[in-house]
Amino acid sequence: MERIYLDYAATTPVHPEVTKAMLPYFTEVFGNPSSIYADGLEAKEAIEEARVKVAKLIGARDEEIVFTGGGTEADNFALEGVAFANESKGNHIITSSIEHHAVMETCKFLGKRGFKITYLPVNEYGIVDPDSVRKAITDKTILISIMHANNEVGTIEPIAEIGRVAQEAKVYFHTDAVQTVGHIPVDVNELGVDLLSMSAHKLYGPKGVGALYIRKGTKLTPFMHGGDQERNRRASTENVPGIVGFGKAAELALPEMDQEAQRLTGLRDRLIKGLQERIDRIHLNGHPANRLPNNVNVSIDFVEGESILLNLDLEGISASTGSACTSSSLEPSFVLLAMGLSHEQAHGSLRFTLGKWTTEEDINRVLEVSPGVITKLRAMSPLMKNY
Ligand code: PLP
Repeated sequence: MERIYLDYAATTPVHPEVTKAMLPYFTEVFGNPSSIYADGLEAKEAIEEARVKVAKLIGARDEEIVFTGGGTEADNFALEGVAFANESKGNHIITSSIEHHAVMETCKFLGKRGFKITYLPVNEYGIVDPDSVRKAITDKTILISIMHANNEVGTIEPIAEIGRVAQEAKVYFHTDAVQTVGHIPVDVNELGVDLLSMSAHKLYGPKGVGALYIRKGTKLTPFMHGGDQERNRRASTENVPGIVGFGKAAELALPEMDQEAQRLTGLRDRLIKGLQERIDRIHLNGHPANRLPNNVNVSIDFVEGESILLNLDLEGISASTGSACTSSSLEPSFVLLAMGLSHEQAHGSLRFTLGKWTTEEDINRVLEVSPGVITKLRAMSPLMKNY
């Protein structure tokens, strides 16, 4: 059975051209970019070429890009870096209640180090109201961090409006754009952000490499301590093949982006409509229009997301659920709870994320298989019996 992969938000396969671009940097061009002889210089040059490509994808200057070990590190660096460098000015940070764990857990960490964190609520679509950001700012606020698009429900936040609020108040503004870069237009100046996190493995690049955009003049302390790589902003010998791969992925994404977004939006809407036609008591999570072109997140009454996942897996379909599975308990998604869903609905959530190799036939297959899976699970569901 040929498998159907519909979890592109979790990670994407590496584009064959990206792999091809990376390969020489494992073997032929293996020098340390800090070395001053030819092998090192060649590696260094490759990094700088990649930096230009990544910068171009988000409308930044190349010197404003710092390569990191992934999106999580970029988020940690942005938040801790700004917090510790600006402590003398204030100790207040504003974020939302639906951020990725990489931001949430960093905020929790900073909360224990004397920083005060405001977690703004979202509406039923997962949208942060820019006005609520404005109202939350105090004379102690040093940073606002609101994600560009949510990884679970795909809702795109009004970042440009929040950027204007931040600029008026002269407060640093960070956005986690891990789910948007390479998929929808991202321009740091249009968005009005000072810091922006990216991750290569969400746009057909390799895992374990990302970048933080840092607007010129932004005050932040380094997150990694050691050598003077990345102009003293990120210590450690550079992941040359990974960075080259990221650059190639960025280069490939730019010319294809609009057309691919259009194609995926078509498939996404067909999947949403098809599921709604075939399954009763199904609800779309996230904003109906302001959502990522590839994201379908639904809650299905009387069934658990995990059970649906396992059954779809048996049919050769890889999807995801909004709820995080821990070893001792099944916690419902905090994102869906923040959007006002009940625990039952949050438990019954299912996420399909589409990508470059998703075809019309894949969507047909999901629509063919899903109703049977739901009927089977509902027949066994105590929630359904009580209904
Ligand atoms: N931020 C968001 C919104 C994400 O979706 C992810 C990955 O799932 C991350 C950050 C973390 O990125 P990485 O896996 O590169 O550490």
